[in-house]
Amino acid sequence: MEQEFMEIQKNDRMPFSCGPSVSCFTECCHDLDQVLTPYDVLRLKTHLHLSSSEFLSRYTIRFTGPETGLPLVGLRPIAEKRFACPFLAEDGCTVYEDRPSSCRSYPLIRMASRSRQTGEITVRYAFFREPHCRGWESSGQHVRVAEWLENQGLEPYNVMNDRVLELIAAVNRLRPRTLSSIERDDIYTALYDTDTFLENHMATGRYVSNDNTSSYDSVLDIGLQWALERIRRLS
Ligand code: SF4
Ligand code: SF4
Repeated sequence: MEQEFMEIQKNDRMPFSCGPSVSCFTECCHDLDQVLTPYDVLRLKTHLHLSSSEFLSRYTIRFTGPETGLPLVGLRPIAEKRFACPFLAEDGCTVYEDRPSSCRSYPLIRMASRSRQTGEITVRYAFFREPHCRGWESSGQHVRVAEWLENQGLEPYNVMNDRVLELIAAVNRLRPRTLSSIERDDIYTALYDTDTFLENHMATGRYVSNDNTSSYDSVLDIGLQWALERIRRLS
C-alpha cells in the first residue's frame, strides 16, 4: 500500500481502529520525526514531574521553523531503537494520559488556519494512511471523525495549539524569517521553557504569582502574550 492523504469531513466515518491488539502496535512510535507544541511540552513536563528546562534538555531537540523563523521543538528519538520515542516501553506509551496532540490525532491530521482579516480559525481534516499502520484493516469498524477527536481527548490541545496561530500570524506579517537569535531564544523560553520564563518575569515583578499561574492556560497565555508584545514592539 502506498501512502495516502485524503481530506475528510468532521461527520464522515473512517474505517479505523487501534489498540494493543493490533499487529502493528507501537509501530507509529518509531522512525519519529515529531514536533511538540508548547502545550505538549507543558503536559509532558508536568506528567514527568520535571522542570521545563530539564524536560527540554533531556527529551527534545530545538530547531528553527523554515517558514517563520520561530523556534520549534521536536522529541529526540532513540537512534539505537529504530528512532523510537523516548517514552515508549514494551507495553506501550508511558505518558499516555499526557501524550502529545499529534499522537492523539494520528492517523487524522488537523489543519487549522487563521484569517488575516478576522482572526477566525478554520479547521480542515485529512487522514493519512501509511503502509506500517494496520488499523485500517483490523476490524471494519467505522469511527466518526468527531468521535475520534473526543475519544482522544483532543479538545484542550486544539484550543491551546490554536492560540499559537496568533503568534505565527504576527511573525509572518511583521517579522518573517527576520528574528535575531536573541529574539528566538527569548521566544523559546516564553513558549517552551515556561518555568524559567515565569521565574525570570516574576523576579522583575511584572507578573505576580497566584493560583492561576499553575494552570496550563495561564502559563501558556502569559508566555504567548509576552512573545506577541515583543514581536509587535520590535516591528
Ligand atoms: S508519546 Fe507515547 S504515543 Fe506518542 S510516540 Fe511516544 S510512546 Fe508513542
Ligand atoms: S494501528 Fe496505526 S496508529 Fe494504531 S498502533 Fe498500529 S500503527 Fe499505530
